[in-house]
Amino acid sequence: MLRLFNSLSKKVEEFVPLENSKVGMYACGPTVYDYPHIGHGRKYVNDDVLKRVLEVVEGYKVEHVQNITDVGHLVSDADEGEDKLEKGAKKTGKTVWEVAQEFTDYFLKEMDSLNIIRPDVQCKATDHIPEQIELIKKIIANGHAYDTAEAVYFDVASFPEYGQLFGQSLADKMVGVREEVVTENSKRNPADFALWFKRVGKFSDHVMHWESPWGDGFPGWHIECSAMSMKYLGEQIDLHTGGEDHLSIHHPNEIAQSEAATGKKPFVRYWFHSLFLAVDGKKMSKSLGNVYQVSDIVAKGFSPMALRYYYLSAHYRKQMNFSWEGMEGVSNSYQKMKKEFLALRLEGGQDKNIFGAMADESLTGRGKFFRDEFVAAVEEDLNMSAALAVARAVLKDDKLKDFEKRRLVENFDRVFGLKLSERDEMPADVPVEVMAMVQQREEMRKAKNWAESDALRDKIEAAGYKVSDFFDGVKVEKI
Ligand code: AMP
Ligand code: ZN
Repeated sequence: MLRLFNSLSKKVEEFVPLENSKVGMYACGPTVYDYPHIGHGRKYVNDDVLKRVLEVVEGYKVEHVQNITDVGHLVSDADEGEDKLEKGAKKTGKTVWEVAQEFTDYFLKEMDSLNIIRPDVQCKATDHIPEQIELIKKIIANGHAYDTAEAVYFDVASFPEYGQLFGQSLADKMVGVREEVVTENSKRNPADFALWFKRVGKFSDHVMHWESPWGDGFPGWHIECSAMSMKYLGEQIDLHTGGEDHLSIHHPNEIAQSEAATGKKPFVRYWFHSLFLAVDGKKMSKSLGNVYQVSDIVAKGFSPMALRYYYLSAHYRKQMNFSWEGMEGVSNSYQKMKKEFLALRLEGGQDKNIFGAMADESLTGRGKFFRDEFVAAVEEDLNMSAALAVARAVLKDDKLKDFEKRRLVENFDRVFGLKLSERDEMPADVPVEVMAMVQQREEMRKAKNWAESDALRDKIEAAGYKVSDFFDGVKVEKI
């Protein structure tokens, strides 16, 4: 049984979902106003690993919902400054809608390159305005929010548990409250947060705006997650994920407003938070020039899968430190593992389908021993570096037969997601057009459209590259 650290109870707990065979998982998604970086990659790979463990090892069907924040997230998580999307639009001279689309596409592409299985539902805040309005109505009706000239605010004083959530200190947030600054138009308490901003004052020319019972305006950032998770997963969910930055504001706010709307039904059973990734021991920041994207890693000749291996070697509850030397080291380990794996012979042209589910009863002896070690590692709060060590031990083992090793490690890779069985030996400088043709040719081959696939091979050759086929993938070389 999976044991997982729950940030709400601050304990490692046995994971038991609300229903027997399925798990509802909601992940806070990106705010699409800028390029995603390798810190985002870490967070979403950690979610992906958790989901794969639940499906492959524990046998659940995971319903994974992830939002896309395209309105309402202000520069400070605590409702101060401009809307990040509107700021991004001003900076680039594009419309907010263009900015949102461009960075959503970018985000999806980067996450795909890390072999993250796409969520079942990816929902935009701007597509769910009516749901957010309905939820705010319920919160007001239950006496937990108040309307002012500038916004509808959630009243944290009406929700006594608020100050204890995730061990935040409400007292700290209250510091600085002075009677005289509280007016009829503003928050009653600095920890109160906006559910609906009105198109007045600093927001009087806010581009994205909708009609509501409280006037023209736009939703605050936090309400979208409660509204969309309830729409797709119900009023109570098993798992909710996010980065450590959400522990102090966004997630306490989600809990308070959700439970205020549903009459205190516990909103989430298990909270899963990933710690941040830092670069050379420092927070990533534009001023330090250390905000790397996956494409920067690839441009230096590393596979995105080597970056994924890097993520897996750091426990999700520890801060991860990225450095180029570290990248070099893990890339060597990844390439070594992949090479050893691909060198395994499938005696007698063994059928590729030689691996079963992780709970395969037919495994015995050493195979069973290693499989059990792997399962024990991932089930102990996702100890992925120990799980990688089991895979390396299998590959080195001198008693297991090649096909047994392959069967085990291929199975483990359904959790790692490292594409060990895909031959992706491509020189780092293959132009994107050639890569695209290689991919198209693969699709044609799968569809047994030989004429098209041959024509594409000729085109790839004309561009100066040779493509060779293996049963498990292709190899591309410069001619
Ligand atoms: P954002 O687009 O900033 O709202 O972030 C999307 C998700 O990525 C959130 O869950 C953040 O907590 C997470 N995140 C942002 N920066 C980092 C980082 N440096 N390391 C790990 N996770 C991060
Ligand atoms: Zn959220």
